[in-house]
Amino acid sequence: MKREFAVVGLGRFGGSICRELSQEGMNVLAIDTDEDKVNEFKDIASHAVIADSTDENVLRELGIRNIDHVIVAIGDNIHASILTTLILKELGIKTLTVKAQNDYHEKVLNKIGADHVVHPERDMGRRIAHNIISNNILDYIELSDDHSVVEVKAGSKMSGKSLIDLDIRAQYGCNVVAIKRNKDIIVSPGATEEIKESDVLIVIGADKDISRFEKNLV
Ligand code: ADP
Repeated sequence: MKREFAVVGLGRFGGSICRELSQEGMNVLAIDTDEDKVNEFKDIASHAVIADSTDENVLRELGIRNIDHVIVAIGDNIHASILTTLILKELGIKTLTVKAQNDYHEKVLNKIGADHVVHPERDMGRRIAHNIISNNILDYIELSDDHSVVEVKAGSKMSGKSLIDLDIRAQYGCNVVAIKRNKDIIVSPGATEEIKESDVLIVIGADKDISRFEKNLV
């Protein structure tokens, strides 16, 4: 069965989510106050409507209560974003994903019960910064304020050595949770797994430990 989504705010971020969900065959209700934006998504989303999400009655009339997951992607208007989130929460939407504009906005959204608060510009900035620092860091995902997952090219320092030789867990406090090798992925590799130069390691740990691991082995 197709799942039901609604995207409120069709700027770059919300628009991209709406496009992607629609391409994946999901039912998407696209909402924006801007007529041009709504017209742009008429042929992309299942329904695209001009509506102000800060008006509870309008949201009720749109039947938003029947939707499983609503994504609030209102950009600069923090007031509208917070009010929309509050109303959707009160209407009993099961899952709410909300884009935060800054750390204060994020705090408020968490307080009022947004299920997932995303901060795309900040997170992408951090990921890109890590990629810039080391050519071997392919990706970086923040798990919490002080824990992350990184994807690193093994490179020559680790090549030909096993995980036990490198003693990554004891030396750096990080765990290699998977190894990508060509098209294969070795999940939970054994301690004797020998690393090849072209492998990509997926490493989880505290930021300070990952940072030491990056400095010494990557
Ligand atoms: P981005 O940074 O992702 O491009 P924008 O600020 O450009 O974000 O886009 C946010 C969108 O949200 C705009 O298209 C704007 O018209 C829409 N929007 C703002 N307030 C409301 C509201 N109360 N109801 C519905 N849509 C809104």
